[in-house]
Amino acid sequence: MKIIGLLGGMSWESSSEYYRIINQTVNRKLGGHHSAKSVMYSVDFEEIKKLQHNNRWDEATKLMVEGAQYIEKGGADFLVICTNTMHKMASEIQQHISIPILHIADATARKIKDQGISRIGLLGTKFTMEEDFYKGRLIANFNLDVNIPSKKEREIVHDIVYKELCLGKIEEDSKSAYQKIINGLINDGIEGVILGCTEISLLINQNDISIPIFDTTEIHAQAAVDWALELFEENKL
Ligand code: GLU
Repeated sequence: MKIIGLLGGMSWESSSEYYRIINQTVNRKLGGHHSAKSVMYSVDFEEIKKLQHNNRWDEATKLMVEGAQYIEKGGADFLVICTNTMHKMASEIQQHISIPILHIADATARKIKDQGISRIGLLGTKFTMEEDFYKGRLIANFNLDVNIPSKKEREIVHDIVYKELCLGKIEEDSKSAYQKIINGLINDGIEGVILGCTEISLLINQNDISIPIFDTTEIHAQAAVDWALELFEENKL
């Protein structure tokens, strides 16, 4: 079994979901007392959040590279960055480590393509919804038609992530707000929606939405297990 490297703490609320899903998935696949081999480095999210919101991305990148290097030294075979937003600097991180990165947008896009969907909605932080590092990748590499909410709605989605979900606060009103925003995108013709922030699935799930949801936390964590077990399968043969 390969050792999964987790760069977490963004926020720890979602990193604990990664840890749970990865271990449960390994156990479901292998049975017995099997669990995942993993190494996690978890940041102090206050530092990261301040740098993001003050547009000090170079300093944030330095912290991310540092974390990834600790993980590589810890023996991980590949890296899982447990946040959509911080894939903004995925290529810079990759330049400073020799283990490969399992990109969250690629894992998600593959699932979307598997279902034959091309018109997709995207919810996440403002950075993820508005910048090219994520949306652009989905469009250029996977030919997806990516739809985002209006500016005002993007602010609502963003604020709920940082002011509530990253702090473990789950509010009914916020759930309704997300449902309303997604329903607006459904009226515009989306066929599925990416929960493109690793905390959103703490708030809403498939039962709350009438079209397929693509939960990046679940998809990314399961893709990590698939990758980790490949070697295990080979060794068994
Ligand atoms: N976990 C979130 C994401 O997936 C946001 C927190 C962060 O800024 O990294 O984008």
